[in-house]
Amino acid sequence: MTTTTTGSKPERDALSSTTVRVPSTPSLDVARVRADFPILGRTVNGRPLVYLDNAATTQCPDAVIDAMSDFYRCCNANVHRGVHTLSQEATEAYEGARAKVAHFLNADAKASIIFTRNTTESINLVAHAWGRRHLRNGDEILLSVIEHHSNLVPWQMLAQEVGCRLRFIDIDESGHLRLDQLDQVLTSRTRLVAISHVSNVLGTVNPIPTIACAARAVGAKVLVDGAQGVPHGPVDVQALDADFYAYSPHKALGPLGIGVLWVRRDILEEMDPFLGGGEMIRDVTLERSTWAPAPAKFEAGTPSVADAVGLGASIDYLESLGMDEIRQHEVRINAYLLERLRELPFLALYGPEDPSDRCGLVAFNDHQIHAHDLGTILDQHGIAIRAGHHCAKPLMRRLGVMATARASFYVYNDVDEVDTLVDALLAARKVFGLST
Ligand code: PLP
Repeated sequence: MTTTTTGSKPERDALSSTTVRVPSTPSLDVARVRADFPILGRTVNGRPLVYLDNAATTQCPDAVIDAMSDFYRCCNANVHRGVHTLSQEATEAYEGARAKVAHFLNADAKASIIFTRNTTESINLVAHAWGRRHLRNGDEILLSVIEHHSNLVPWQMLAQEVGCRLRFIDIDESGHLRLDQLDQVLTSRTRLVAISHVSNVLGTVNPIPTIACAARAVGAKVLVDGAQGVPHGPVDVQALDADFYAYSPHKALGPLGIGVLWVRRDILEEMDPFLGGGEMIRDVTLERSTWAPAPAKFEAGTPSVADAVGLGASIDYLESLGMDEIRQHEVRINAYLLERLRELPFLALYGPEDPSDRCGLVAFNDHQIHAHDLGTILDQHGIAIRAGHHCAKPLMRRLGVMATARASFYVYNDVDEVDTLVDALLAARKVFGLST
């Protein structure tokens, strides 16, 4: 394997700068990591599974699966409401997971970590609980053209409801946000800037602190869609200078069914509840209710306790690998992936050229084979990739395509799987009788 640049010790990258250099040596022992993931031992269509759909959902290590199964075996009970031992143990496990997330993200308070179902629900929570209270006719929300539908549709719905206006930052030809447009699109009417930390199509790592600084200058709040951020490197929500940060643990070795929303502590009191019901109240009469303090105010009903326990275990696991090491691993894979894909003249690649500007994914198209056909053929080789619009239809339009294929790598993937991918892409050409 050759790399474009080398450096012995990459500088710390808080997923907001482009200072990571391509490491010359592996930062993770991938063979050891793989042994922790039982699903990677299976075959698909008679071939060993090559799982390259990590931007959609990652796999769980034994540590996560065991933690959740232990919870159900040993202390399954509802939380916060029982005086009996099982309920107290379940509550401790649930609140312990919250403390781990708070530490992992360097949150300003444990109470500012709210558990939801996923990133989508976290963003909807902000739109309802903060947006409806603070946005008015004529106010503006600044988004970008790369946003996932999760960070677009909730704001469209809010805009229709309250009459505010959506504005957008474009991208340049290299797949970076046009920061030069900030001066025009940020105005005294901007109340919120909602931007993804990392693009799920282009892989671009966006410079959140720079954007947040510009947003602050006009008095706007900043929401970061961290669905593709948290999995891929160290995230410090306070250093990013955000007000809201959302992510989905199922994209970072955790279970499906639980999401995270961090809200800056001093904003919690400026938010109304999202859902009403049990657990989120201080008092209830037949006519009226008052609200419990955060985070309970935003967590109506019985939460996904076992998923929270699994989330806590996933954080322990990620920290045992090291978030800096994970970032370096991805930059190294990226460098090789881009290099190998660039050898294939029949492919169009999307996103920044520099492997250190992006997380471990590449979207591409074969000029002659539809992305869905490519995905189906690769599946015959045991390779799982994603094909489609990636819930980013406006970005597809901006790129002038209907769909792309996307290969996304994580901690248990290595460069040999890049080679398997390339071989399968060549084999797909043969299926259609096309030149390689
Ligand atoms: N935002 C981005 C950038 C994503 O990539 C995704 C999922 O792929 C989401 C939001 C939505 O995540 P979820 O479906 O877990 O809510």
